[in-house]
Amino acid sequence: KFSKSLGQNFLIDGNIIHKIIEESSIKKSDGIIEIGPGIGTLTQSLCEAAGKVIAIELDNKLLPILEETLQEYHNLEIIHKDILKVDINRLIEEKLRDMEVKVVANLPYYITTPIIMKLLEEKLCIEKIVVMVQKEVALRMKASPGNKDYGALSVAVQYYSKPEIVVDVPKNVFMPRPNVDSAVIMLDVYKEPVVKVKDEKIFFGVIKAAFGQRRKTLLNALNSGIDLNKEDIEKLLEKTGIEPKRRGETLDINEFARISDEIYEMINNY
Ligand code: SAM
Repeated sequence: KFSKSLGQNFLIDGNIIHKIIEESSIKKSDGIIEIGPGIGTLTQSLCEAAGKVIAIELDNKLLPILEETLQEYHNLEIIHKDILKVDINRLIEEKLRDMEVKVVANLPYYITTPIIMKLLEEKLCIEKIVVMVQKEVALRMKASPGNKDYGALSVAVQYYSKPEIVVDVPKNVFMPRPNVDSAVIMLDVYKEPVVKVKDEKIFFGVIKAAFGQRRKTLLNALNSGIDLNKEDIEKLLEKTGIEPKRRGETLDINEFARISDEIYEMINNY
């Protein structure tokens, strides 16, 4: 019996597991965090390749299965918890200190974005994230300006990391078969975000506003999404040299940063 609401689609294809391990270039000096080990198929290969594996599983029904099938691995620790409630910095500090930390997982799709954003935002010392996600989400993470999949998630992911699709994954390698296509995406996490902004809260606010109303011009989208009057927004856009009639979805990450820094200046000069 599988729990659909927990996004349980177990990988049953050795080749895909092998590909995930290979692309993650796991070494014995690596500490791996696996989110949702399920019945432990990927976990087993992770334990063989890595120095240490911390597997975080929410479903208590799976724990006895995991403990039995993985009992021979002494470099494994299973934690029964909701990943969104785990203090990951503390976990790394306590259990994976001095190791190169990678997150490798076949994610529960219903919380893909919150998991990815949590991993990226907390300024963790994670080096790489290699995860199975819905193909559509992988395309959104990777998309460039002008592409139909480009959105707030693309800019946020690309602010912190360099995404690359490792392999497209068909539905039939899972049990039960999901309704959507999948892909493995690799995020190479930067030591510092790719652009420097004066205030991240403003930066992400601008992105949210710009993509919030896709059919509006940049000027109108910012006007309804940001707490400044239209004249001020026009003024600051002029300073950045960015045409106010453009659509938010045509802006690249540097342009978002420029607008965000101008807003910061404006607010702080009042
Ligand atoms: N890794 C296994 C595999 O590849 O066969 C299972 C992957 S399955 C897509 C997702 C797993 O995440 C399930 O085992 C599910 O119980 C677990 N899960 C769901 N929500 C979770 C949460 N909030 N925290 C931790 N694990 C969760």
